Amino acid sequence: MRDPLLLTPGPLTTNLITKTAMLRDWGSWDGAFNELTASVCADLLKIAHAQDSHVCVPLQGSGTFVVEAAIGTLLPRDGCLLVLVNGAYGERMAQLVEVMGRRVVRLAFADNEPVCPARLAACLAEHPQCSHVGLIHCETSTGLLNPLQQIAEVVAAAGRELIIDSMSGFGALPVDARQLRFAALVSSANKCLEGVPGMGFVLVERQALARSQGNSHSLSLDLFDQHAYLQRTGQWRYTPPTHVVAALRSALDQYQAEGGQPARLARYRANCERLMRGFDRLGLKLYLDDAVQAPIILTVHAPAHPAYRFTDLYHAVRERGCILYPGKLTRVETFRVGCIGALDLAEIDQALAALEGALRELGYLEHSSEHHA
Ligand SMILES: *Cc1c(COP(=O)(O)O)cnc(C)c1O
Repeated sequence: MRDPLLLTPGPLTTNLITKTAMLRDWGSWDGAFNELTASVCADLLKIAHAQDSHVCVPLQGSGTFVVEAAIGTLLPRDGCLLVLVNGAYGERMAQLVEVMGRRVVRLAFADNEPVCPARLAACLAEHPQCSHVGLIHCETSTGLLNPLQQIAEVVAAAGRELIIDSMSGFGALPVDARQLRFAALVSSANKCLEGVPGMGFVLVERQALARSQGNSHSLSLDLFDQHAYLQRTGQWRYTPPTHVVAALRSALDQYQAEGGQPARLARYRANCERLMRGFDRLGLKLYLDDAVQAPIILTVHAPAHPAYRFTDLYHAVRERGCILYPGKLTRVETFRVGCIGALDLAEIDQALAALEGALRELGYLEHSSEHHA
């Protein structure tokens, strides 16, 4: 029995080599595991060309835990975070700052509109209390790509610090710390790096981390302490997700063998373009303009059939061996299809065939296109 293909934003389809890497037990105090952690962190820094400027701090938990840890550690208690919101993950970032009892200002854009650097500059001038800016690199709720480089330039020119949630982009979308100023970049093992869920990591600027002692409201989410302990002992504070780290080590080996970031991006771009052509053939329309679409996940307008229900489509596609993702927009009915994970064009074609079969079975196809075959 094959597992279904996950056409989702994560956790994703992983390959057999990565899964097999989890078949060993590791002692969390053992030198061999400490070396595994150190090598994973070193490789993650290299992906962003950040080995001279930043350190990598790994953390247990899902991606949101790590975003919360990065902000809780780097944003002083009397600081204020300006969050750039154009989707659900931006809103979540703002919300977690509120929950930790620190100040937040939202600068909102439409769900299909990238962050405007000029509006950010004006907002920073208007809000001198905002010490930090929070950005979602690829807003996974739609698949929208924000203009990271221009935003980083505005933040640096205004003398503020940038915290990037690049959860769904890191490893595929290029990031070069030699040309891009950022205090922290957060991502996790189970998105474009194609590891399994259970840990994330933060690439933190050395000086920013050095200044952050005592900021955290949380013991377990304190990246300053996590880093200090790792430096001192080579070990994680508290139980590490040993099998997840081993899987990430394997995933990174495969990443490098594939050709690193450019090759990963090229594969996802090919998947994305194949999906786009397939949707076009089926008369399905994309929510975003091509110009702002990252090759990570696509948001598709639901077929305009009066009986359309996402759960029916989901189950019909699921029976054909693929898993779709619901939309995350409140005003328009959509569903999402991921381009990422251990998937190639053969699997993308299989997913398109599954989608077409499901749409036909449900009778949705006639209503979704004026030009289908
Ligand atoms: C996946 C993701 C997260 C983290 O989500 P978890 O469910 O906590 O792993 C955060 N931000 C973005 C942009 C994401 O895509």
